[in-house]
Amino acid sequence: MDTFAPLAFDPLDPVALTQALVRCPSVTPAEGGALSLIAEVLAAEGFTVERPVFSAPGTPDIENLYARIGREGPVFVIAGHTDVVPVGDAGAWTRDPFGGTVSDGVLHGRGACDMKGGLAAMIAAALRFRRETADAPGSIVFLVTGDEEGPAVNGTVKLLEWAHARGERFDHCLLGEPTNPATMSDMIKIGRRGSLTGRLTVHGKQGHVGYPHLAENPIRGMVRLLAALEATPLDGGTAHFDPSNLEVTTLDVGNPATNVVPAQARAVFNIRFNDVWTPQTLAAEIEGRLREAAGNSVRYEIVFDPTNAVAFLTEPGPFVAMVADAVEAETGRRPALSTTGGTSDARFIKSYCPVVEYGVVGQTMHQVDECVAVADLIALEAITHRLLKAYFGGKRAD
Ligand SMILES: [Zn+2]
Repeated sequence: MDTFAPLAFDPLDPVALTQALVRCPSVTPAEGGALSLIAEVLAAEGFTVERPVFSAPGTPDIENLYARIGREGPVFVIAGHTDVVPVGDAGAWTRDPFGGTVSDGVLHGRGACDMKGGLAAMIAAALRFRRETADAPGSIVFLVTGDEEGPAVNGTVKLLEWAHARGERFDHCLLGEPTNPATMSDMIKIGRRGSLTGRLTVHGKQGHVGYPHLAENPIRGMVRLLAALEATPLDGGTAHFDPSNLEVTTLDVGNPATNVVPAQARAVFNIRFNDVWTPQTLAAEIEGRLREAAGNSVRYEIVFDPTNAVAFLTEPGPFVAMVADAVEAETGRRPALSTTGGTSDARFIKSYCPVVEYGVVGQTMHQVDECVAVADLIALEAITHRLLKAYFGGKRAD
């Protein structure tokens, strides 16, 4: 391990640590100094830190971080990512996106809420817990990737495989993505919907609109097929999930002429699906609906994009309750258990141990002027600290 100059800030201060991380320009796939900073902070507290780099053809090499303190179980994992989405229109920002400035109780910068703030608060909490309870049973592991906002190929998936191959076993995981819509007591995520994208092409025969019997309009067939996909709900939802939802995201003919019947029509749709389906069973359902609607009069092709976004649920039980208890104790309100929103790296972690997501308020994620309230960082540090105390304090979660 490298030796470092003393830190210029107190790593137990979640605000200072968030500022330091925001100042690292870690736009995917750049590491930007963010993982080095975390490595430095954790190593100074006695964590064993490793920095595996993963590669795959056609994608940039990605740095990741694995850190552990303690040798025995239970093993509590804190997961997150340090990469951020691009700034976008830099001129539209009212402050330096990598400045990490604090004004009027708000910390500004790219990644402040998604999710350097969440990660910093959890690191600060883990350090405080270990300093207070150096002889605590069990282990704390950090899994931090630099590839969540990008292709997500050389990140959490491979970091988990890498750790598993070394014999690492995890008991529970807290993923610090911003889960709260408006206040810190709003929402814990106990699952995520899956995502499946389909590409539909309908073939016709180009011709003169004045001689339709010599042409075959693919738009007519496309309308019929899309109507069939939308006609019946995919399901009625489940105990913890909303009904699966299909959205047509584009419909393209690209025909500039008003007197020509086009040869082809294309549409793309995306389905956010619940735990009734796997990508395979859902694709089969869609194929069946199309086949029936097309009969032998519509010529079409359907292709599904490869997906690793499956639906999953961490059943509410003692661990979920422990997280909810910690949130309620610090905020005075019990958070909802939700499975809404997009996908996250939790979809990979769930294959190794139960995973719950909780973090700061996500209102400005990926936006211009991304920011996080200082009070929320302080609350998240307190909640995580309380959770660690409960988890390692003998009240075992299952
Ligand atoms: Zn994120």
